Amino acid sequence: MSVLPHVPTDEVAGPLCAEVTRFAARSIDARAIDRAGAIPAGVLGGLAELGLFGLTLPAAHGGAGCGLLTACQVVAELARFDRSVAVTLGLHLGLGTRGLVAFGTSEQHERYLPSLAAGERLAAFATTEPQAGSDLSNLATRALEAADGSLVVNGRKVFVTNGGLAGLYTLAVATPGLGGRERGQSLVLVERGDAGLTVEAEECKLGLKGSSTTGLVLEDVRLPSSRLLGEPGWAAKGLAHILSWGRTLMSAGCVGTARAALDKVHGQVAHRRQFGKPLAALEVVREQVALLEALTFGMAALVDEVARADDEALLGRSLAAKVYSSESAWRVVDGAIQLHGGLGFIEDTGLAVMLRDVRVTRIFEGANDVLLSHLGAGELTRTKERAPLTGAVGLPLAGLATKADALAAQVEARRQELLARYKVGVFRQPRWMHQLGGACCWREAVDAAVRRAAVSARPEDVARASLLTLRASAEVSRLLEEPAPRDLVEVALSDTLPFPEVRP
Ligand SMILES: Cc1cc2nc3c(=O)[nH]c(=O)nc-3n(C[C@H](O)[C@H](O)[C@H](O)COP(=O)(O)OP(=O)(O)OC[C@H]3O[C@@H](n4cnc5c(N)ncnc54)[C@H](O)[C@@H]3O)c2cc1C
Repeated sequence: MSVLPHVPTDEVAGPLCAEVTRFAARSIDARAIDRAGAIPAGVLGGLAELGLFGLTLPAAHGGAGCGLLTACQVVAELARFDRSVAVTLGLHLGLGTRGLVAFGTSEQHERYLPSLAAGERLAAFATTEPQAGSDLSNLATRALEAADGSLVVNGRKVFVTNGGLAGLYTLAVATPGLGGRERGQSLVLVERGDAGLTVEAEECKLGLKGSSTTGLVLEDVRLPSSRLLGEPGWAAKGLAHILSWGRTLMSAGCVGTARAALDKVHGQVAHRRQFGKPLAALEVVREQVALLEALTFGMAALVDEVARADDEALLGRSLAAKVYSSESAWRVVDGAIQLHGGLGFIEDTGLAVMLRDVRVTRIFEGANDVLLSHLGAGELTRTKERAPLTGAVGLPLAGLATKADALAAQVEARRQELLARYKVGVFRQPRWMHQLGGACCWREAVDAAVRRAAVSARPEDVARASLLTLRASAEVSRLLEEPAPRDLVEVALSDTLPFPEVRP
């Protein structure tokens, strides 16, 4: 039950991505998917033919045995064409199958992996419940052990991506008493045909309309004990790993979305003429496009590093990648719409669907504000020193490295100050943790961008990393200001949220 190492088959990414691009350009029509609210069967069949549903599944069971990096590159490429398709595949490879691959028994592998790798069976993952969203400590779906050792599951899951398509669901459920833990949670595998499982109707969503999202109702679903995934009572351990894969794949999708929006921007500003010249000749427009490029460069660099990280680093860094990528992709698509003027608001341009699709990335896989607090808390307890960039990158980037180090020093100074001011009570300071988490996101993106620019040494990459560093410095200074005075906040809310019980 050990986490599989990343196998070194990631060199396949280049040729495979080229094939994915050819397939997507030929077969994927984002607006048609948006209008139909479903991905055509032919597209899912095409992904299966390309072997993409088995990309990160072990070769011994029909998969390609690739690691997270290749999966991220493929998902980013698909997201350039349509986000629903990218989410469907990304969810299958990440949240849907990662737990099974990493923690499944050989019997579970034999039973499920071949059909999952072939795309004959899709995977989904369900933790969220009507009353348990950001706070998953309070799951009401329970699996109770029966006298014969089987598990009887009752409860309801909501917002399950791939819910309507999947043949296998990994569920997080409360398992009181199991594994010796009174308040323990476990992961269980539920098959679509299990008696007592009802897949609810598709949700009607703002975006990602082609991606299936349903609830699941479980009424006395009886599972043999062999359906437990990983250690009974210790779901948290497995969840940390599974969620870090899920977040990273989702971040990769944001890279694809941002690139697609930028492609449209390039065409528009080059061809659209106003004031007697192309928009691209206007200084303010050029500055705006350059910023969008810089944000996207940071995203791609960060996701690439995180996808290569070892399991331990992946846990923390995937939080920063998720928040930075989803926030930046939102800004890039919004910026692209602005630069298209009125056309940006018209469906035919293709940006409206991107905006609708990307919006949920700031919410699912953990709402960003919640993740920022986790990130801030992780930073406060961090034991590993950040390696300075000065001296680590070549001379041409020395000035930039100094700036990135100065930004990191600013974050570190605030961390030290908070620890000194609040001591262990710092973890009861959510606003400070949230701010610190925000600053960490920028630091991580800048560090990754500077390292990537140092490797490529292309002047445009160095310029993008420099612009990102400038923007990040301004954002971090703003973020690290004192939070708004609490009494002011309370008075501002006093006639709208006046109830004493909702006060902190
Ligand atoms: C399209 C879609 C697909 C999804 N797919 C899946 C899936 O496949 N599997 C699955 O299990 N779940 C899935 N989800 C659920 C998703 O992960 C949750 O919606 C998300 O974690 C937020 O939980 P919530 O909606 O209950 O929001 P709540 O927990 O009710 O929070 C609402 C808002 O309150 C704020 N907030 C809450 N807590 C804090 C805090 N501590 N600090 C600061 N702000 C806070 C945030 O702004 C947050 O967005 C999906 C959701 C959607 C919309």
